[in-house]
Amino acid sequence: MTDIKVNGLNEPGLTFHELEQGFTIKEAITEAGRCLNCAKPLCRTGCPIDNDIPGFIYALSRGNIGEAREIIAERSNLPAVCGRVCPHEKQCEGHCVLAKKQQGIKIGKLERFIADFDAAMHLSRDKVPAKINGKVAVIGSGPAGLTVAGDLAKQGFNVVVFEAESEPGGVLLYGIPEYRLPKKVVRQEIERIASLGVTFITNCLVGVNITVDQLFDQGFDAVFIGTGTALAKGLDIPGKDLMGVIQATYFLRTIVLYNDGKIDRKEVPVYKDDQVLIIGGGNVAMDAARSALRLGARVTVVYRRTESDLTALRSEYEGAVAEGAAFCWQASPLAFIGKEGMLTGLEIATPTGKTILPANKVLLAIGSRPAARIVSTTKGIEVNPAGYVITKQTPYGMTTLKGVFAGGDVVHQPATVVLAMKEAKRVAKGIAAYVQAKKLLEEC
Ligand SMILES: Cc1cc2nc3c(=O)[nH]c(=O)nc-3n(C[C@H](O)[C@H](O)[C@H](O)COP(=O)(O)OP(=O)(O)OC[C@H]3O[C@@H](n4cnc5c(N)ncnc54)[C@H](O)[C@@H]3O)c2cc1C
Ligand code: SF4
Repeated sequence: MTDIKVNGLNEPGLTFHELEQGFTIKEAITEAGRCLNCAKPLCRTGCPIDNDIPGFIYALSRGNIGEAREIIAERSNLPAVCGRVCPHEKQCEGHCVLAKKQQGIKIGKLERFIADFDAAMHLSRDKVPAKINGKVAVIGSGPAGLTVAGDLAKQGFNVVVFEAESEPGGVLLYGIPEYRLPKKVVRQEIERIASLGVTFITNCLVGVNITVDQLFDQGFDAVFIGTGTALAKGLDIPGKDLMGVIQATYFLRTIVLYNDGKIDRKEVPVYKDDQVLIIGGGNVAMDAARSALRLGARVTVVYRRTESDLTALRSEYEGAVAEGAAFCWQASPLAFIGKEGMLTGLEIATPTGKTILPANKVLLAIGSRPAARIVSTTKGIEVNPAGYVITKQTPYGMTTLKGVFAGGDVVHQPATVVLAMKEAKRVAKGIAAYVQAKKLLEEC
């Protein structure tokens, strides 16, 4: 992504450049030096993937940044991402013993510093074991797929990732906006996973271009499905087909594609002075609101509950407010209003009655669910009534079809990057155990 193009989309004042500045080396080492290196580190308890937080902070405090990165690599393949987008205040930082005195260690920023510094200086390198333990196909390259790929490659598996998009990364690349997670950072993390010997095959929609059965025919010992929740939910109210009713995830994706030079500006569906309503109260809604503001639109977020019920991170909500987003609380959409096929407003019900909010664009951010491309083209993979893949405890993450595993949002509903990684790590262990047993039986 070129900065010029990111600038090209910007209105003066608000930019798509990364908002949060990282630590300088001096700041990072000083911050690391405040850590008490607790015998019972509560920060680690708060980390869903059990990162050795005191370990990497201690290494950093001594100036050993490469060693700090190696310690992180024992548990995580995506530290530069997690350092930026994890809800640290609810996890490691919220649990830090110093947080009680409002002096908690800024763990996310330290993790980000270590990953960025290491990537820039090429300090550490992962060991690349010989690929002797079997062949695994990973479908989808979001945090779940990347974690399974990285963990299994480190254990000597031959891993091939099949991705429908033209580039790997999933929501990290096509969802979370540049100002929170620069695409350069995502690409760097993926390059490191590729350097473990993982092969990426892009523009390959499994279920259409190849089936799971064909993957087994090609000699894969196991298949992992990490396809996330690709289908954005619609709002089934009058006027839903009017021009101007758009999915927020589609809008966010077009910004990335435009910045990559893959589509024209006119295909990014928000313009200066547009009156945009965002329906929803999660992180996707905040990302859509803040991105639309960056394109010069006037933005109101319409949420059916109250401020305290927002599911978005507090910091994201506060960021949206500071940047000029208005909020309409306890508002239930009743109908999209239009004229000659074009959206002109949204009728809502509030505790004080019905009203129409004028708008020429509505961005829907009310959730998503899994697509059925793989399960509909493979016999034996059961899903629950909402379409989420059903998995087993033993071997962990195996679906109802032998040798096929699943994890991340496609199993556990839209959650967070680190929760997708947590599950994927457990499933990677399940796959390793399964393939090992399969090989032993074959030898017998
Ligand atoms: C806009 C937005 C903002 C978010 N912000 C945050 C945040 O700040 N912090 C946080 O922790 N979480 C955030 N999340 C949630 C987080 O990104 C997801 O929980 C996480 O990405 C799920 O990972 P996953 O690997 O399961 O799925 P995904 O990231 O969705 O990846 C699935 C991949 O599978 C591919 N795929 C799908 N079907 C096929 C197929 N048939 N064949 C081949 N490939 C296929 C897709 O193209 C995609 O690359 C956000 C989500 C969104 C949408
Ligand atoms: S809880 Fe806080 S002070 Fe203790 S080891 Fe973790 S980061 Fe350091």
